[in-house]
Amino acid sequence: MADSTTNDPYKFKRRGLLFVLSSPSGAGKSTISRMLLAAEDNLQMSVSATTRPIRPGEVDGKDYHFVSVDQFRDMVADNAFLEWAHVFGNRYGTPKAPVDAMLEAGRDVLFDIDWQGAQQLHQIAGGDVVRVFILPPSIEELERRLRARGTDSEEVIRGRMDRAANEIAHWDGYDYVLVNDDAQSCFEKVRTILHAERLKRSRQTGLIGFIRGLGKRGE
Ligand code: 5GP
Repeated sequence: MADSTTNDPYKFKRRGLLFVLSSPSGAGKSTISRMLLAAEDNLQMSVSATTRPIRPGEVDGKDYHFVSVDQFRDMVADNAFLEWAHVFGNRYGTPKAPVDAMLEAGRDVLFDIDWQGAQQLHQIAGGDVVRVFILPPSIEELERRLRARGTDSEEVIRGRMDRAANEIAHWDGYDYVLVNDDAQSCFEKVRTILHAERLKRSRQTGLIGFIRGLGKRGE
């Protein structure tokens, strides 16, 4: 039970939120996600399933659950996804059960998904979803970052640049839009958004008793 003399709203039970970070690949979203997860105890990543091949350095079960097209189809048929979409010719989906378990445990969940996923989550969970879109400082800088990764072929990079233009066209489906010209300052802005969203009145259901107590003291 929270002590009624405390001023710390985080001590009160509140509804967990679904925090979506989207951006064209290369805009620095993975770095921001890592910084956010390292800084925030109560935030956990949703690990998506994908049919795309594993890249060097990636870990199955940590970066993604790498599955076959048949396995993915079975998961769709079993209604195991909260949302799923075709991205770059591969399938990506958010497994439902781990997200339910994290929210049930009172944690906030971080999603690195595209605009289609953000839209679907918003349709399902409405006000519990916070959608943040991260833009690169310029198209030239985005291309430079994609090449610097050294993981993709020329054809894949061209595809990603086309896809980036398409992704950026959906920026208006988001609650917040940021430009990532510096990872540290972009991370701080994203963290501020998370903190402010946690304090929204609609999420502070556990505060009701505390506020009633304050009212009585003033009588
Ligand atoms: P990558 O293959 O570079 O890791 O990711 C490609 C794109 O797929 C990224 O924009 C990423 O946000 C998106 N993505 C990753 N997982 C999911 C998912 O579960 N659902 C949706 N809709 N998009 C995803």
